[in-house]
Amino acid sequence: MYNKKDQMMSIKTVADNALNQGEGILRLTPTWVPRSFCIPGKRIKLHPDDYYALGAERGGIDERWFSSTTPADNGPLTSRNEGLSHIILKDGRKTEKILLRDAIDELKSEILGERLWDQYGGWTMYSKFFDNQKALPFHIHHNDKYARLTGQLGKPEAYYFPPQVNNHGGDYPYTFFGLNPGTKRNQVMACLENFSKGNNRITDLSSAHALSVGTGWDVPPGVLHAPGSLCTYEPQKASDVFAMFESITGNAVIPEELLWKNTPEDRMGDYEFLLDVIDWELNLDPDFVQNRKMMPVPVKNDNDLKDRYIENWICYKSSDFSAKELTILPGQKINVTDKAAYGMILMQGHGRMGKWKIDTPAIVRFGQETCDEFFVSEQAASNGVTIENLSDTDPLVMLKHFGPDNPDLNLNLNEV
Ligand SMILES: [Zn+2]
Repeated sequence: MYNKKDQMMSIKTVADNALNQGEGILRLTPTWVPRSFCIPGKRIKLHPDDYYALGAERGGIDERWFSSTTPADNGPLTSRNEGLSHIILKDGRKTEKILLRDAIDELKSEILGERLWDQYGGWTMYSKFFDNQKALPFHIHHNDKYARLTGQLGKPEAYYFPPQVNNHGGDYPYTFFGLNPGTKRNQVMACLENFSKGNNRITDLSSAHALSVGTGWDVPPGVLHAPGSLCTYEPQKASDVFAMFESITGNAVIPEELLWKNTPEDRMGDYEFLLDVIDWELNLDPDFVQNRKMMPVPVKNDNDLKDRYIENWICYKSSDFSAKELTILPGQKINVTDKAAYGMILMQGHGRMGKWKIDTPAIVRFGQETCDEFFVSEQAASNGVTIENLSDTDPLVMLKHFGPDNPDLNLNLNEV
């Protein structure tokens, strides 16, 4: 029987061993998350028999979370550690698994680096695949000021649509963003007042944009959005704060309690509060597309590298997180440095990364281990990671997600 102290020591030992074994690169196991209100688009490589592996009552699995130290908030049926990433350590014939969150709590700056640990005391973002067959209701995430009223953090998020998980676009590959320029407060008020009276038709006040693979969008807190049905790689700040502003989406009815979700007790029923949560300037921006759509931007403009590897910024407009797509061409071996710790998911191909063999699975059983997801410590990232593509034909493609204020992110946003 462990007492608490022994248990903590054992987590520290496992974390130490895992960090040493991977030379600063931790291997993670897949973290599948069901959503009772979603229908899986079946594009995230789970075996077709396993999309309801947690039981029909829990809903289908339509999310895979990456580098997560944030538990999923899935109501009373949520299982233990749902949404949290695990580190796996193979020690001879023994396999140990610990939470990435616990390893970071134990090893602190050894994993995150002093900059992130001293400033944030933890890993404050995660990323995920969001794979819904249909569009989501028009909703909003509060900013820090309004989220704080219910003890939460504001939630910026960003989208990128990787081609590798978009062999079909789902039922509605268009996203409503913001409010049409000129929309007045009383028009939104009328929709909110009509929430319980049938279809409140709030998207009449917005415009939908066609989604295309290989591009993305930046969604700051306070911006209304109804995500379309492409499978989305979604880096975000670790927070689950939201309010649904639309009463009926497609044929799905949204319960009114979700309109008031994360409204403080003393403002319940007060539509003015919800109208204040809207960032009017960002929603009414006549240059919304120009300012929020993200085309990939090369990390370096070096033509000599183009026949070896391609690295693009794919999410670069938030200070809370950023993401890159790294493609290593067939047969190439490169060394890549980053100034910050990061998580990564392999999208295509196979090869080596540091000490690890890396492999993109074609199909994964629920509960199966993979070699496609890792977390790279700041030290390992800044020393440089050697990556080799062992295929003669296939590119090796990975997505890398970073925490706040990435020191490498120095784009002039007026020029991209
Ligand atoms: Zn959202």
